[in-house]
Amino acid sequence: MNRISYGDRYIQVDAFPMGIDYDFFAKPRSNDSLPEEVKDIIEQKNDMRMILSIDRLDYTKGIKERLKAFGRFLSQNPQYLEKVRLNLIVAPSRIEVDYYDELRKEIKEVISTLNGKFGTFSWMPVWFFFRSFSQESLIALYRHSDVLLVTPLRDGMNLICKEYIATRTDYKGMVVISETAGAASELGEAVVVNANDYDAIARGLKKALEMPLKEKIARNKIMHQRIRRYNVEVWASDFLNALKRTVMDSTHSIAQRSIEKDSKLIETAYKKAQKRVLFLDYDGTLIGYKPRPEQAKPDDELRDLLLKLVNDQKNTVVIISGRERNNLEKWFGRLNLHIIASHGLWIKHPGQEWIMTIPLDNTWKESVRHILQLYTDRIPGSFIEEKEYSLAWHYRQCDPGIITVKLTEVKETLLSMIQSATLELLEGNKVLEIKDNRFNKGIGASAFIQNQNYDFIFAVGDDFTDEDMFSALPPEAFTVKIGLGNTNARYFLKCWQSMRLILQKFVDLSAS
Ligand SMILES: [Mg+2]
Repeated sequence: MNRISYGDRYIQVDAFPMGIDYDFFAKPRSNDSLPEEVKDIIEQKNDMRMILSIDRLDYTKGIKERLKAFGRFLSQNPQYLEKVRLNLIVAPSRIEVDYYDELRKEIKEVISTLNGKFGTFSWMPVWFFFRSFSQESLIALYRHSDVLLVTPLRDGMNLICKEYIATRTDYKGMVVISETAGAASELGEAVVVNANDYDAIARGLKKALEMPLKEKIARNKIMHQRIRRYNVEVWASDFLNALKRTVMDSTHSIAQRSIEKDSKLIETAYKKAQKRVLFLDYDGTLIGYKPRPEQAKPDDELRDLLLKLVNDQKNTVVIISGRERNNLEKWFGRLNLHIIASHGLWIKHPGQEWIMTIPLDNTWKESVRHILQLYTDRIPGSFIEEKEYSLAWHYRQCDPGIITVKLTEVKETLLSMIQSATLELLEGNKVLEIKDNRFNKGIGASAFIQNQNYDFIFAVGDDFTDEDMFSALPPEAFTVKIGLGNTNARYFLKCWQSMRLILQKFVDLSAS
């Protein structure tokens, strides 16, 4: 869930909706002394209904759109002329750019038009303040505003609306919020509108102004509880706990079964043994991943290590990989080692020809290919890869949105097809693979050790196909998983680079 493993640690992605200091905003304040900078705004209110709007100067805040929607509201509801005022506070942006200056001019123009069109000798519908106010002044404004109008086109959270709700301990205010503000998902009891729809904003504004007191109180109470419970302290500790948990999970699983803990035990067993076998996966185990598989060819250091390992007469070294046999033979054919290719379908002993471990039956391929072809035609970017024992359906290039919707369907269709057959569905990295299940690395490795009386078995791999091998080997085998994740292996190892150090250790022990 929202977590990936990378090397020896987890990386977690989560959403932590930010809270506010509820107690600070909700604490009782006297009505007697208003801060000087908002005195006029509040005292000249008379019987007017007050709408408040507070933003930083930015296009994403939808300020122009909001003003136009307010104009729409006034045209559609002439009964509110001279009865309502919009206090529009826009705080200058932290950076000085022409871009913002342009926006400020545009906003002023819309305001002039509105005030010119609707204003009278004694009434100006929009009061514009291009400046910031102190916290206490804002709180005074919250307390005297009937509606808070928050309609950003996009906003990560918007804490203003939470502050407003917390301040209104009389439950008599109402928030009109656009669904594109992050806070909207927490404030479902507010009046939620579409920030791009002037009519919807106008309707929402009317609804908020005319909402019966009983309903307003009921809605506000629920939002109050939520904001109080998930305040800024809970938010901070939530975030820090998630962070701690992720770090702990990583270090915990590594520390619990770290191979370093038993390194003496393994060294002693290695030295004592007369007949050893080492099963080594290739990609991600002996070498890092490359953008294209053919680029991951063994370097000199690795060749040298393998050469020295097989020089010890007591060692049997097996490269056990999902790669095709021709590829592995090109890289390792001349070294004195054993190769198990294609997840166990093929095996090659030093100096001998390849042997197929089971007779291949590919009669299933036609019907599965037919189904995969139907999906490939319908889902752009996907393609089918045919291997001698499997069909793989790749979707790395596809639109993630389409895949989210379609993947379960593809999987279910395939699973229903392979139920009775000797087939299995493997889920890899952006690929689904249907393969003959009569062979895998586990079957390959256990067949290899049968009747051989090895007294030291070592197996290492990094992905799910290596799990078959880990569980098939006897419990006294030293099985090692590279990287984090659920595993049947006895030990964890950080990365392929650390694996090279272990192989070097084995070489040193052989020499001593
Ligand atoms: Mg691997």
